Amino acid sequence: MDERFSVWQFFPDGSYEKVRDHVPADEAFKGFKHYTTSVGARIGTTVRVIITDSGDQINAEWKHGEGIVFPPAPSTRTKEYQCQDCGIRIVVEGDLVPAEPILCQRCDPAFASLLDNKHHRVQR
Ligand SMILES: [Zn+2]
Repeated sequence: MDERFSVWQFFPDGSYEKVRDHVPADEAFKGFKHYTTSVGARIGTTVRVIITDSGDQINAEWKHGEGIVFPPAPSTRTKEYQCQDCGIRIVVEGDLVPAEPILCQRCDPAFASLLDNKHHRVQR
């Protein structure tokens, strides 16, 4: 139950050192944060920091000049589109690109049979 983690720091010449040895997750994360924000990390004398679990799997990875490369950060970018039919604003999160033509849900042809396109009302 008590998973233990190790933190490693790597140097430009390829050498490395274990800076935390089989510590609980919170301590490993603290160490990771410490070494990825240290002076060495900023100036590049530390080029890589990783957290490994007891199975030697990488749980987190930081690289000089790149930042945290694992786990990948969730995309928080949003893009705005306009419905080509009614002009309503459509906000799309992340890297999703809506299919062309860009239509809101109401104008989407998939719903067309249910909708009066001009008034966006369901025809009965
Ligand atoms: Zn529309």
